[in-house]
Amino acid sequence: MRQAVMTSPGTIEFKEVAKPVAAKGEVLLRVMCIGVCGSDVHVYHGLHPYTPYPVVQGHEVSFEVVSFAEGVTGFSPGDRVTIEPQVSCGECFACKSGLYNICDNLKVLGFQTTGCASDYFVAPAAKLVKLDPSMKYEHGAMMEPLSVAVRAVNQAFSEADGGIKGKQVLVYGAGPIGNLVAQAAHGMGASKVMISDLNEFRLEKAKACGIEFISNPAKDNLAEQVDEYFGKDRKADVIFECVGVNGTMDSAIEIARKGTPIVVVGVFGKKAEIDMARVNENELKLIGTARYVLEDFEIAKGLVASGKVNLNPLVTDVFDFEKYNEAYLKIQNEPATTMKVIIQVNS
Ligand SMILES: [Zn+2]
Ligand SMILES: [Zn+2]
Repeated sequence: MRQAVMTSPGTIEFKEVAKPVAAKGEVLLRVMCIGVCGSDVHVYHGLHPYTPYPVVQGHEVSFEVVSFAEGVTGFSPGDRVTIEPQVSCGECFACKSGLYNICDNLKVLGFQTTGCASDYFVAPAAKLVKLDPSMKYEHGAMMEPLSVAVRAVNQAFSEADGGIKGKQVLVYGAGPIGNLVAQAAHGMGASKVMISDLNEFRLEKAKACGIEFISNPAKDNLAEQVDEYFGKDRKADVIFECVGVNGTMDSAIEIARKGTPIVVVGVFGKKAEIDMARVNENELKLIGTARYVLEDFEIAKGLVASGKVNLNPLVTDVFDFEKYNEAYLKIQNEPATTMKVIIQVNS
């Protein structure tokens, strides 16, 4: 079978390797679609601090079930599935507390362990999530980023605070993750959602996905719009930072109503210099969020099935498996008009 190996930053080579065999508890899968995300792009440019080369990428994936070994129940050949792509140790404090997404020894497929960029893949049944038979494979590969969004939304408030229901939400960044955070918040019951970005194309995509209020700080005054849309006293009940740069984090701290959470979803390449005195005095709550656990995939699936999240407008490009490298060139050369890029491995 074919396998795409990134031998060094910027170089993808196709190799012929043996088709894997499912061991006890495992499922043999035919790889259908792979989503390319920001972290993959960092690996492509040699900027991902925790990824050695050579590496086989692919952590946002949809599959068709081919067969399975003994000890597997609940799957049939032809089923559509996706994978929760983390390998955790089960021994550390985080794992023992159920937070295996922040395991001390975590390996993520496509970064620290072999990803799915091949014709076939073998995975433990326990890591697979069944998709509706009607879900497109392109969309199946997007359950991973949507699960990131679901977890981020659930980090903001405890159940005692009513979760996201009825809350007013401001999202910085309308790239794929910001878009999905806004949609997930809306779909999970937020009363009002505003999204802010400098890129008009991305703002239009957010609008096409049903986000009511879009703001471009290049031409609009965000603070005034927050007052106008959410109310001068109440403002936003929660802010999601989905960019990962100093400027937006600074702005979030500046604009936040006293006592509110700011969820840090964006991946910061550099240390941010922020106004901690303001965080302190205004009792702001800075909340981290990392990836997901299996339950987040189930919620993500439900949001798509019920039509509360619309994935269609996000897919801007689909490349054949053997054009993997061209996908990266498109992202590099036309970032302003690229959202989710999908690699079609098989069809
Ligand atoms: Zn990703
Ligand atoms: Zn662990």
